[in-house]
Amino acid sequence: MLQKRRECPLDSLVSLKGSRRLLCVLASFSILLQANPSLGKFPRDNRQLTSCSAFTSLEEIEALFTSYERDHIGLAQTFVVGTSVQNRDIFGLRLSAAPDTETPEPEIRILGGIHGDECMSVELVLEIADYLIQSYGEEQFATELLDGTELLLIPSLNPDGYAALKAYRFNANGVDLNRNFHFAWVDGGPKPFSEPESRAFRDLSQDNNFVMSLSYHTVATYVNATWNYTPHHPPDEALFAAMGTAYAGVSGYDVTFGWDWYGIYGDVDDWSLGTSGTFGWTIELRDDEEMEFSVHLAGLQDFLAYAFVGVRGKVTDSVTGEPLLARMEIEPAGAPVYTDADVGDYHRILLPGHYSITAHSPGYLSQTMEDVMVGNEGHLELNFSLTPKPSESVDFAFTFNGMTLPQEIDDSFSRANYLNETVVWNALGEPDGVVYSLSPGGTVTLDMGLDGSVQDSVGTDLVIVSGSISDDPVSVQVAAEQDGPFVTVGQGDGHIEVDISESGLQSIRFVRIVDDGGGSFADRYAGYDLDGIVDVTRGSYTPPIDPEPDEGDDGDCGCHVLSHRDESDLIRILRSLFSAP
Ligand SMILES: [Zn+2]
Repeated sequence: MLQKRRECPLDSLVSLKGSRRLLCVLASFSILLQANPSLGKFPRDNRQLTSCSAFTSLEEIEALFTSYERDHIGLAQTFVVGTSVQNRDIFGLRLSAAPDTETPEPEIRILGGIHGDECMSVELVLEIADYLIQSYGEEQFATELLDGTELLLIPSLNPDGYAALKAYRFNANGVDLNRNFHFAWVDGGPKPFSEPESRAFRDLSQDNNFVMSLSYHTVATYVNATWNYTPHHPPDEALFAAMGTAYAGVSGYDVTFGWDWYGIYGDVDDWSLGTSGTFGWTIELRDDEEMEFSVHLAGLQDFLAYAFVGVRGKVTDSVTGEPLLARMEIEPAGAPVYTDADVGDYHRILLPGHYSITAHSPGYLSQTMEDVMVGNEGHLELNFSLTPKPSESVDFAFTFNGMTLPQEIDDSFSRANYLNETVVWNALGEPDGVVYSLSPGGTVTLDMGLDGSVQDSVGTDLVIVSGSISDDPVSVQVAAEQDGPFVTVGQGDGHIEVDISESGLQSIRFVRIVDDGGGSFADRYAGYDLDGIVDVTRGSYTPPIDPEPDEGDDGDCGCHVLSHRDESDLIRILRSLFSAP
């Protein structure tokens, strides 16, 4: 049965050219898709769709992107993110008024089709691309956006599922790609990033510092913030709420934190925030029949405006002026963000207020700017010039590469009792008594900073610093590459000294701590309490305090256990006392 599927707006008919215009008209009429009348009441993604054949095909996407690049030189650039299990290309489009150069602009990622049967999510990303290209130089929003940012659009991350005769949620290995990311990973695939599609997406994301990201799905009406894996909201809760409200705008969609709707593990947005400080959102589109472009355009205009607010700047070497890879930490507590190593630029979205901002870079002394005031409009420019450390200095874990939780978390009892409220970034940088607790049987993988950053030296190379006298034994593994192989080099509890020569490697970059599984999900500090990892290959280090008994592991001790927020507040109070005139 033929049914008008979506509107092909008149103004876009005028501006569209060639194949895209024809496509737009043709796509307005298509076979009525089999949809369940109770859609929208289901938990996320729980639905069936027969085929995406009525939507833009992969071949058409490729042709379209090629024509954009040909007809809009200096604005559009097509690229291949990677290839799928069945060797299909994953197409990407880079939109910016200067897409060829690494300019210090905030980068934004827009993703569709991670689930192959969510056809409209692909179509909407194509619609956004088309609108921005056709409107550049004509309309203020598109012009300012492409002049001031760089957008990477990936309409179909799961081309095998999308192109299948019966559209398929999973990739061709039967893996849900949106459970395969290395953050709160549980069982989405044989291991985190086991799939070529998610690995390609990871590599693209690690090469670009995305300030914000949208991942479109169908079907429901949610603007969905991280975290998805935990009932606790992220430290940037107020900012997330503001951004979500901006997107939801006139749509009638509900803004929610993922867990409050439906907890999931190993998704792209939690991974983005946890490992890169990218503010990642899942937008669940109302249905697969009607293109609500005007609704989402209004949302995008208000939402993407956040790319222009907050603090930005460059981090450079004070001696050479060269750009640096740096981690930018924010107080009051929020997600750290990172500079682009090639340009040295960082971009941190912030609500108006007073902040202190610290730049950390491996091999350099950290630098803090106190009492930075962020206003209501535009962004504040704040540059850092870091001094190299003396050569015989220690260094610390630099980036959070990933973490896993054991499969038991996915049973309803453990899930309902998951109280761990520590955040992963607590394990970065110099040990300070604020920990990340691994959860029973959890693992964390930290990145020491740069290729070959820890060179084997005589005796102990790494000190794993625990925040408690813990009876949670762990093993310590190291690797040169994030995909491994990881080799066990130590075991123990409390502080653990590691000699990386046990691995047979001359240098390593990634350190993984594997909790043995003791403890309960109902403990707020369950599992090993990781305070930090210290690279002592060039200097010596003594943990600053003797670890305290791990009260959090003793659920019935009757004592007051400080929450992460309590600790942050306490640290702020102490700091203000000591810095008082
Ligand atoms: Zn989905």
